[in-house]
Amino acid sequence: MPRRLRFIADAMLGDLARWLRMLGYDTVYARDLPDSLIVEKAAKEHRILLTRDRGLYIRARKKGVPVIPVDTTDIAERIAIVASRLGIRLELNPDESRCPLCNAPLRRALKSEVRGRVPRRVYETRSEFWICTGCGQVYWKGRHWRGIELILEKARRLVGDRGRHHRRGAQTR
Ligand SMILES: [Zn+2]
Repeated sequence: MPRRLRFIADAMLGDLARWLRMLGYDTVYARDLPDSLIVEKAAKEHRILLTRDRGLYIRARKKGVPVIPVDTTDIAERIAIVASRLGIRLELNPDESRCPLCNAPLRRALKSEVRGRVPRRVYETRSEFWICTGCGQVYWKGRHWRGIELILEKARRLVGDRGRHHRRGAQTR
């Protein structure tokens, strides 16, 4: 099922854009757009703006565009900031993923479809593959998958910490 929330990430948040796509969220990476057009596109396409840029943040607020400041360089922290603000579940299911390269949805591929398009060892040892419906890139749960899981684990822990922190804060008031 397609995810409801949509995003636009500024030039400094390319890695966060790729992660949100993998988590299934339609995310534009605004690498070469001037600030005014980023805000305009966010408004027109109902996208939440993610930015490290103070000026862009203020511009978005003035225009009433939903914006989340993401002021850290750590990718797990970046993911956690967005997830805790919006209640996003940090589980990666490739059946619901979008292509980290081009933002198009992935679809499951038959093994026969990827023959010759992935390394032979991968073809022989893996049974699940996905293909990007936009750029044709083939994906599988390879050696990098453990790294993906570790970053998500860290992000989930950070979301939990933020939640506890907020609850404690509420009690002392
Ligand atoms: Zn693609």
